[in-house]
Amino acid sequence: MNILVIGAGIGGIAAAGRLARAGHTVTVLEKGARPGGRAAVIEQEGFRFDTGPTLFLMPQVFAETYAALGEKMEDHLDLVRLDPTYRAHFSDGTHLDLTSSLPELRAQLEALEPGSFEAFLRFMAEGYRHYQISLDKFVGRNFTSAWQYFDPQNLPLLIRMKALVKHATNTASYFKDPRLQAAFSFQNMYLGLSPYDAPATFSLLQYTELGEGVFFPRGGLYRPIETLAEIAAGLGVRFRYQMPVRRINVEGSRVSGVTLEDGSRMSADLVVANADLPYVYARLLPEDGSASKLERKKYTSSALLFYWGLKGGKAPELLHHNVFLADDEYRASFDRIFDDHTLPDRPSFYVNAPARSDPSFAPSDGDSLMVLVPVGHLDPRHPQDWTALTARAREGVVKRLEGLGVKDLAKRIAFEETMGPPEFLERLNLAKGSAFGLSHNFLQVGYLRPHNRHPRYSNLYFAGASTHPGTGLPIVLLSAKLTVERILAEQTVPIPRTVFATA
Ligand SMILES: Cc1cc2nc3c(=O)[nH]c(=O)nc-3n(C[C@H](O)[C@H](O)[C@H](O)COP(=O)(O)OP(=O)(O)OC[C@H]3O[C@@H](n4cnc5c(N)ncnc54)[C@H](O)[C@@H]3O)c2cc1C
Repeated sequence: MNILVIGAGIGGIAAAGRLARAGHTVTVLEKGARPGGRAAVIEQEGFRFDTGPTLFLMPQVFAETYAALGEKMEDHLDLVRLDPTYRAHFSDGTHLDLTSSLPELRAQLEALEPGSFEAFLRFMAEGYRHYQISLDKFVGRNFTSAWQYFDPQNLPLLIRMKALVKHATNTASYFKDPRLQAAFSFQNMYLGLSPYDAPATFSLLQYTELGEGVFFPRGGLYRPIETLAEIAAGLGVRFRYQMPVRRINVEGSRVSGVTLEDGSRMSADLVVANADLPYVYARLLPEDGSASKLERKKYTSSALLFYWGLKGGKAPELLHHNVFLADDEYRASFDRIFDDHTLPDRPSFYVNAPARSDPSFAPSDGDSLMVLVPVGHLDPRHPQDWTALTARAREGVVKRLEGLGVKDLAKRIAFEETMGPPEFLERLNLAKGSAFGLSHNFLQVGYLRPHNRHPRYSNLYFAGASTHPGTGLPIVLLSAKLTVERILAEQTVPIPRTVFATA
């Protein structure tokens, strides 16, 4: 088949590579100048920054993708396990290093709340259970009929995974100290969710980090993008950059190809849309009422991002991953993000300082910091002055880091770039400027999430964060796998066994 893939995000690259390996002729049409989408890189004045993802989780899922493309992950990625995974700073000046060294963790937890280490072990055991059930029964498979999802055998599993309990409520049942409640629930923000809305199933995140590990591919999070794109190109995939698609052309119940921004047309037997799914329904397909239904769904938060190249040496106060929590205004800060769609009065934020693990990220006498401040997504009912909010967020971050001991931070910034919700919308076509795509509340996961094949156009498929199973690099790799499995099963083409090789 002649297949067009719209978008060279990690989902588009992986889907294209798998389809090429199965013998198809695949062309990827990407709006931007390079592959990666949200997982891009900035290289300026000797500083390097991963623009989006910085946490490499679930290496086995990456390994499965490399294997499916006929390669070994170890030949392409040099993974370092980070321990402590990160340092969580609390409002009162105390901190917690989340480490897989249990004696060290016990001493720290007991100092914050006596008895909390035992609670932590129970919490981890639950997270492990949630992780296993999710991967085996829900995340790692396609649901092509409601029966498969609402199968009576699955219902007790949803209860066991605490799918109807809120994550924040669940964390509070383990830990009394608000600092620990925050330290074991803020990870929802990696998926752009509020712990007050996310299902308690997501205690699997804490297990993933501490049990399975947080890794760093030397060279940064762009290494998986670069290497997977190279491998896909080696399998025959043609990548065409700065080729934005304007329309997907339809004929009856099938798509016939695309029209590019310059007006030229390309025909295809099948199209895989990796661009954000709500955007594809709203902007690339004929109006049929679906776009406005998608518009009413819940979306993840957005983020203000600062990329700072510092002169004057490394900031020794920072580890590779650092989280600054507004634990004394925790609930209020999530309400500001998810109800008012703005910047919290006292925001929590995350700082990535990768030059500690890989000196090539900054000149020897400098440092490279990426700061992520969670904020609301774009909402016409709550218009925001993003320039003013960016300035306020910057001031708050500088103040807190200077308070930690990072002296003269503002004066040391030699290179700066910022990104926020309007840029997520304009540059990456992410609906509502939402950084992580559609939300993952109970009504938007599994069979209830927009499906990876269009309900009307039988040769239009989706791979990416806003379709099944969801957001995050490894989960999007699973999306590509599941979508390609479905294409190969439905489009009556013999499936080469190598496409599903495991690592
Ligand atoms: C700030 C931030 C931090 C994150 N941190 C982590 C993390 O630490 N760990 C983790 O695992 N995940 C993280 N994520 C999530 C992860 O980055 C995403 O889930 C993943 O990259 C999404 O990949 P994708 O292929 O679905 O989409 P995208 O990366 O959005 O790719 C879609 C591509 O489609 C292109 N496109 C759009 N419209 C068109 C068009 N009309 N024509 C042609 N091309 C088009 C876009 O340019 C883009 O390249 C983070 C995300 C963000 C934003």
